[in-house]
Amino acid sequence: MIYLDHAATTPVPREVADAMYTVLTEQFGNPSSQYEMGLSMKRRVEQWRATVAGALGCESAQLYFTSCGTEGDNWAIQAALWQNRKVGRHIVTTSVEHNAVLECCKWLEKQDYTVTLVDPDENGDITAERILDAVRPDTALVSVMMVNNELGNVYPVAEIAKGLAARNPKTLLHTDAVQGFLKIPFKAKTLGADFITISAHKVGGPKGIGALYIGSRVRNVKPLLPGGGQERGGRSGTEATAQIAGFAKAVEVRCRDLDASLSHMAEIKAYAIEKLTAIDDLRLVGRGTAPHILSVSLAGWPSQNIVNDLSSQGICISAGSACHQGKASHVVAALKLSRREAGGTIRLSFGPETTREEIDACAEALRAHHDRRMPML
Ligand code: PLP
Repeated sequence: MIYLDHAATTPVPREVADAMYTVLTEQFGNPSSQYEMGLSMKRRVEQWRATVAGALGCESAQLYFTSCGTEGDNWAIQAALWQNRKVGRHIVTTSVEHNAVLECCKWLEKQDYTVTLVDPDENGDITAERILDAVRPDTALVSVMMVNNELGNVYPVAEIAKGLAARNPKTLLHTDAVQGFLKIPFKAKTLGADFITISAHKVGGPKGIGALYIGSRVRNVKPLLPGGGQERGGRSGTEATAQIAGFAKAVEVRCRDLDASLSHMAEIKAYAIEKLTAIDDLRLVGRGTAPHILSVSLAGWPSQNIVNDLSSQGICISAGSACHQGKASHVVAALKLSRREAGGTIRLSFGPETTREEIDACAEALRAHHDRRMPML
């Protein structure tokens, strides 16, 4: 199998699975239990928290484990609106956020919040200025992702944070960094965002575990799940110890050769661009500079047919457009491409394991698809 869909999820290295297995079978205590196995798990969870916090560039006390990136996004938005309930009911975000943010905002609109969606330009870029122009005196929250998951475009979160301090210092800033963590260099402490969402399964960790950074401007953190008081009362529910262990181990493994693996991904992406753009009718979509995501369009050839054809040859890529779990992609739609280009958009995404030979095989399969079939769009 050739796996070129690392933005969807990533393989778990053996070391990570082993760390989880030990916790599941031997160190299975509940961190709230008062005997030694429980107490030692409590200490271990704090060590694992320190590992993830270290990689994110924050204090352990600022990092809360969640069940996934989606939970982190929802929690951040709701906690920000709670803190700023006297500031107003206006939210600024972008039309190309992950659905974890967009669908949460749609629910909020039903509860009388007003949401301004800032569109990208035709390259997928969004300037800090465009975001700041949408901020009003009653803006409680700005939520802008760090790296777009379909295009790989990197958004200017630090610049937005600086601008917000002048425009409306009360407005809180959230960034969904699920595709940015360990891909784009940043430190939570200096980024200027009040909330940062991350997720383990995009960096070689297991599915079902993420974390939310909450900065010092957020007082009285509103819990998303009130209950037994775990995660310092912020997020109740017995700690998912095996997943947390796997998250920390994945971070440790990735950070061991982070610079080398990021340069490797960037090199693979450059190689893929060279190979793919040699195919007739294929063009780049967006101006993604993240090292691991490449969006292209085989204009005229429906993306779901391409994905199915490659899948039948054991090559995993994703449809960036027409068929995104059966729905058209809101990200591709926001670029206002022609119908043929939008309908033919696919995404390739890379990991530290991706090889040039895999890119060669994918490029060959795409060329054959192009030459064998008539355009249908
Ligand atoms: N945000 C972005 C940008 C993502 O790419 C994803 C996953 O694809 C999520 C949020 C959701 O993360 P999770 O799958 O951990 O809920």
